[in-house]
Amino acid sequence: MELIRLEDIHKTYVLGEVDVPVLKGVSLSIDRGEMVALMGPSGSGKTTLMNILGCLDRPTSGRYWLDGQEMSRLTPNQRALVRTGKLGFVFQSFNLLPRTTAAANVMMPLDYAPRRPPVGQSRRLAETLLTHVGLEDRLDHEPSQMSGGQQQRVAIARALVNRPALVLADEPTGNLDSHTSVEILRMFRQLNDEGITVILVTHDPNVAAYAHRVIRIDDGRIESDGAPSGARDDGHGTPESPGARSKTAVLAVSAPVVAATAPKSLYGEALPKPRRWKVPTAIPPTLRTALGALRRNKMRSALTTLGVIIGVGAVIAMMEIGEGSKAALQKTIASMGANVLMVRSGAASSGGVSFGAGSVLTLTPDDAEEILRQCPSVSDVAPIVRTRSQIIYGSRNWVPTFIYGTTPSFLAVQDWENLDEGEMFNPRDVLNGNKVCVIGQTLVRELFQGEYPIGKELRIQNVLFRVIGVLRRKGANMMGMDQDDIVLAPWTTVKYRVSATTLTDVNQSAKASGGATGEINSLNDIYPGSQSLYPVPSAMQAADTPQPVRFTNVDEIRVKAASAGQIPRAIDEITALLRQRHRIHAGEPDDFNVRDMAEMTRALSSTSRLMGALLLVVALISLVVGGVGIMNIMLVSVTERTREIGLRMAVGARGYHILRQFLVEAVVLCLFGGAMGILLGRGVSVLVSSILLWTTQASVPAIVAAVAVSATVGVAFGFYPAWKASRLDPIEALRYE
Ligand code: ADP
Ligand code: MG
Repeated sequence: MELIRLEDIHKTYVLGEVDVPVLKGVSLSIDRGEMVALMGPSGSGKTTLMNILGCLDRPTSGRYWLDGQEMSRLTPNQRALVRTGKLGFVFQSFNLLPRTTAAANVMMPLDYAPRRPPVGQSRRLAETLLTHVGLEDRLDHEPSQMSGGQQQRVAIARALVNRPALVLADEPTGNLDSHTSVEILRMFRQLNDEGITVILVTHDPNVAAYAHRVIRIDDGRIESDGAPSGARDDGHGTPESPGARSKTAVLAVSAPVVAATAPKSLYGEALPKPRRWKVPTAIPPTLRTALGALRRNKMRSALTTLGVIIGVGAVIAMMEIGEGSKAALQKTIASMGANVLMVRSGAASSGGVSFGAGSVLTLTPDDAEEILRQCPSVSDVAPIVRTRSQIIYGSRNWVPTFIYGTTPSFLAVQDWENLDEGEMFNPRDVLNGNKVCVIGQTLVRELFQGEYPIGKELRIQNVLFRVIGVLRRKGANMMGMDQDDIVLAPWTTVKYRVSATTLTDVNQSAKASGGATGEINSLNDIYPGSQSLYPVPSAMQAADTPQPVRFTNVDEIRVKAASAGQIPRAIDEITALLRQRHRIHAGEPDDFNVRDMAEMTRALSSTSRLMGALLLVVALISLVVGGVGIMNIMLVSVTERTREIGLRMAVGARGYHILRQFLVEAVVLCLFGGAMGILLGRGVSVLVSSILLWTTQASVPAIVAAVAVSATVGVAFGFYPAWKASRLDPIEALRYE
């Protein structure tokens, strides 16, 4: 049965402009179960031929069949599959993974096998094979702790782990003393007896004597092909005369040991057949390899991640401190009234002359109540009746900027709870039109001058008000008006008892038709539930003498949106509600207008936008810095481990295995860095809040983003080195010094 067939194989290396022909038309055929020695002077092309046989390299021309399959046209990945499936390679220089135990070295090719056994089974298989090569007591020794012969035996065990049909050994004894060489050769001989086809390269005629067949190669051509010249002394095989011998004779010798698969004796009875091996998930061995590689370079890994640690830590700390100060800032701005909306009545015009906003009084206290009830984006509402008048206390007088008739919720709307002294009037005061008031700090200063104001009585247009509370100092507003120059009283009192004559009242239709004076107020509504002072007109009477319609209107409704962000929604809701309540048809203009503190809101949003942008810049910078660090080290690591990559590929790793391994390494580094960075950032923010007493706010999105970002950095910056590694040519990589 023919295992290998070469037809006119040529291999020419191109060195710059010069072609170096190395193999010049090699044709041969090797059967299953043969043990072939390849001999020839140094530089004759033996290694080149072996690499072609081992599917590590491709011939320049010529055809190569292995096990009936044409090899010279396969893609690199297909050749890798052939290497795992059918071949075992033993190198002159052992090529074991450094700082990795013998057992792990033997198990390594299994990671790339199409059917990978579970870890426990791989380990048992490795132990069986190492026992077979006489290393049962060196399972956990690393290559540096073993002699050359022992290392080569580990390499042989590794070559056998995938149950190859063909073992290729390129000068396996070249680095060993003659005694050890004999041991190793006996081992090959034994493998061959167990049915594995063996091809080995050697200079040594004594070594060649162990083979059935010796192929001599010189200057890229086969010079002779036949039985070995030297007689063996180990009793194996039959003594045969040197010189030409027909292939059929060799076949006759090796025929009894032909076996399609490797024999049981080698792998132990207990082990199940490969096809019964389950396919476990792909990650653990890759992760294991990656962690192993990182652990071997602890210091370097730690320093590499430092960039990511600091970057992510900085981002987290910045985010937490930033969030804290943003929340504090938002509270400050909100207390300045950024959430406040002012609903004013619309503008009247007469003969083309507009009287300006508020000149038609269309808003009622009921509107205010309904806004609070029906608009979900509104958190508080206060109707306001304004007047301007002199205030007299004792011998002093003062004209405050604001005299507001309102409800107790005014304080909530203006973020002005917590009075300095006394208390706010209550809803009952509003209902009853009680003559009580709450005054601002400026009035305390101007009218009372050190006197205790609570319980004192002020006079506003001949109405006596008892002071029941003093407001907290608030300072000037955005327009520079003194907000403390204010008197608050129940709106009913201001509306009905103080003559609430404002300039706009002249336009009030009710007033115009109600009489010459502004005193149109009956006391009917002030005491709800009380006996009506006047008899209720019958329907007929009402129809005959229509009563003037009396609006209980207010100058303004002040509304507090639930949050600054909900202001636009609140405006929409209020507009819709008021249009409906005022029966305004589609297409008609509003008879009111809603104003917000747009300037303040803009300041607020631009502040937070600026902060967000700054944080993003910091995050980007740290991301790039950390990423470049990782990429740099990964590139160094790829270069440094070129031989390892070549070796892994030689035993069957395909490009994506290598890509995956390096990517996983980079991502593990980054995720580790991200985790440490989160701890660092949290630590810094806790320190800042406890030592500097700044407000910080733990931000879950920041942490999630940090993890996502560090993984992304790992993939993004690890990809190039990993890709570069996966593109290496196995044979070039193995040659790399
Ligand atoms: P050996 O029989 O000693 O194993 P090789 O097959 O390694 O010989 O090399 C045969 C010839 O090919 C040598 O002359 C060597 O210089 C040349 N050669 C080997 N590898 C390369 C390469 N990668 N590039 C150019 N020339 C090479
Ligand atoms: Mg060589």
